[in-house]
Amino acid sequence: MRLCPKCSTIVSEESRTCGVCGASLWEAQNRSIQDATTEAQRAKTAADQHLREKELASARRRIISRLVFYAGTVVFILYGFLLLFSSTTSLFTIGIVIVVTGFVILLFFIIGAGPTTRRYRGRWFVCPQPNPRR
Ligand SMILES: [Zn+2]
Repeated sequence: MRLCPKCSTIVSEESRTCGVCGASLWEAQNRSIQDATTEAQRAKTAADQHLREKELASARRRIISRLVFYAGTVVFILYGFLLLFSSTTSLFTIGIVIVVTGFVILLFFIIGAGPTTRRYRGRWFVCPQPNPRR
């Protein structure tokens, strides 16, 4: 048995190329099935671990930025509410504007939440894919 040097798939000794990734196997050494299995397992575990850590980190970052945004908007709205109790008409008007703006931001953020929206040059765009890069 041999191990594909590229994707760590176990391939038979007769094959010249890897059936999974198509890599040439001329450099792959013959190994015992035991060795191949352990190595493949180790590579897979490391890759899984790395992927999980990356996903966790990005999820955490997304949640934190979302929470900060929500908190900021709520503070904004509360500030507007406080202005509604002021006796001056101009401050009252500003309060209404702030509250309405805050709610619009909150609503827009909830509707446009998730990975499908992207901010580009100050405008929001809806992307068909979570990751527009190819
Ligand atoms: Zn391969």
